Amino acid sequence: MFKYILFIILFAFIKLFADNNFYTISICSDEKYESSLYCKDNIIKETELDIIITKSKDTLYRTNYGKFGTKKEAYLQMKKLSRSTKQFGVFVVNIDKNNTEFELFEVHKKSNNLNKISSYNDNSIIDLNLIKKNMENSEKSDKSEFYKEKVIKKLEKEDITENDKVDFETEFKKIVEFENVVKKVLLEHPAKDVKSENSESKRDLGVETKKIAYLTFDDGPIGATKNILNVFEEENIPATLFFIGYQIKNNPIIYEDALNSKNITVANHTYSHASGGYQRFYSNSDGVLADIDKNQRLLDKYIDNSLKPLRFAGRNVFRLKDIKTNDVALSKEHTQNELLSYDKVHNSGYSIYGWDVEWEFDENGKPVQSPEQVLQYMETSYKNSKTKKMNKVILLTHDIMFSNHYNGKANLKKLIKLLKENNWSFESINHY
Ligand SMILES: [Zn+2]
Repeated sequence: MFKYILFIILFAFIKLFADNNFYTISICSDEKYESSLYCKDNIIKETELDIIITKSKDTLYRTNYGKFGTKKEAYLQMKKLSRSTKQFGVFVVNIDKNNTEFELFEVHKKSNNLNKISSYNDNSIIDLNLIKKNMENSEKSDKSEFYKEKVIKKLEKEDITENDKVDFETEFKKIVEFENVVKKVLLEHPAKDVKSENSESKRDLGVETKKIAYLTFDDGPIGATKNILNVFEEENIPATLFFIGYQIKNNPIIYEDALNSKNITVANHTYSHASGGYQRFYSNSDGVLADIDKNQRLLDKYIDNSLKPLRFAGRNVFRLKDIKTNDVALSKEHTQNELLSYDKVHNSGYSIYGWDVEWEFDENGKPVQSPEQVLQYMETSYKNSKTKKMNKVILLTHDIMFSNHYNGKANLKKLIKLLKENNWSFESINHY
């Protein structure tokens, strides 16, 4: 049985790698293999095309939809995706066997009865246990060698081409890599427990164990910032304040208070906040970088933060090692005009964070939603995996909402109380 599984994997790989270069639509990414399966089963609503899991060199598993010969085809398909899938910030990636940071990991065919690797994966937990058993039963000290021998023997009997043989070493490495993941999964989820569980729930895989809130505050420092600092001092939980350079100049004492608050991470929110208007600002990439660098120099005087966390003014954009999304509120053409700015800033070493949920305010700075409603939004986003990272919700608020005028301190404390009661934990953006 074990051999059978291994050969299925092997031949599926050989078949797969016959296509050296193609495009696919990236939907989700995560460090955990289980999360990529979760994405396949629960997030990708489309069923027309194959689902391809890739693995990047920095060990991120990426769940992708479809396989396309040209970039254009991929973009056309991307347009057709359901809204619920699109909101994950989908983008097209090029998979090039010879020159790429991605490696193919496994393919889930749209039609189950056709493809054995698919049925293997559909029952992956049970089959993984079989593999584990085989590993344990093997008396060879070097188990990789043991598998290799078996596979080679089998290959010699099969009618395969020379090219396939040349590829063998590479494929074998991938099998070993896959097995290492299997081992890791089994270590975390012992065989007998997993077997008896229903595979439909991500809770079973230990993925949904934590709800993490990243509370972020934009556009300070201003007078109301003092309330925020007090609350986080009293609650003793972390928060991130994205400060504007000119406000730091206007309110140096509050800025200093923020720096001295142990729970507060101070981060960059540009120097000027795009005073000439967002469109004009972002169409000049050199100007954007200069403005952000200016604020960073101000922050660097006091803070040592090699991540250089940044939030753009007026743009919900992510540029991180594993997440690259643009602001869905902007048209495609509009986004196109600004891409250079986003990427230039990211390439200069900034980690750029948007948000998942916003606690809004009206033209006077008054909060629109109640703390109860904000909690509800956060819970819903979390449950439906409508966030950029699973189990993590970045909440955007603005300092102005927490002025005494609107009972800011009590309002903020109320939200934190509700989150604590509902088992949320808190992190600064540095730990996102
Ligand atoms: Zn802002």
